[in-house]
Amino acid sequence: MNVEETLAQISKEVSTCQKCALYHSRKLAVPGEGPANSEIMFIGEGPGFHENEQGRPFVGAAGNFLNELLAQAGLKRTDVWIGNVVKCRPPGNRDPLPEELSACDGYLERQIAAINPKIVITLGRFSMGKYLPGAKISSVHGQMRRVGDRFVIAMFHPAAALHQAALRPSILKDFSLLPNMLEQARAALKRSGPVKVEEPKEEPKQLSLF
Ligand code: SF4
Repeated sequence: MNVEETLAQISKEVSTCQKCALYHSRKLAVPGEGPANSEIMFIGEGPGFHENEQGRPFVGAAGNFLNELLAQAGLKRTDVWIGNVVKCRPPGNRDPLPEELSACDGYLERQIAAINPKIVITLGRFSMGKYLPGAKISSVHGQMRRVGDRFVIAMFHPAAALHQAALRPSILKDFSLLPNMLEQARAALKRSGPVKVEEPKEEPKQLSLF
């Protein structure tokens, strides 16, 4: 199975998934989207109202802001993969529960393994918690760290920056540094040799994120 086929298979499974209670409240699951060879994967929290209606990630006001931030970094939305830690909308946009994060994590793990990006950018605290448990976003945002075969950068969620004007300069600055960080990541991964792409052979373990 090539990468496109693997991603399509995961999307198909997500569309009918009933592994956690969030399937009750979804209209459309949101598996995530972007090119199979994306060097950057953005991972947010979960679908909101518009995402649930359209089955696509980041299509509301926060999505428009994300598009602006990408443009500022010289990137198009179609250059990057965008998804969430949970694929179905929590009712009333509440925070996802630990058991929902744990149930859905296997899909994201498979997507990351298939795409094998150079950089994973976490948007908000739930995706940050997957890589940097216990970290404070205000302390670590915009810093690139090596995590296994790739780099991870935690950033504020665009929705947070839309609602809190004080966060706007920070998120703008973090995105402006992205082209430089991508160059650094490319160079570092080239020096350390090719990254092994491996699809999980069995159903991935459900990870507890807390
Ligand atoms: S949130 Fe994830 S685990 Fe829960 S029903 Fe949707 S796809 Fe399945």
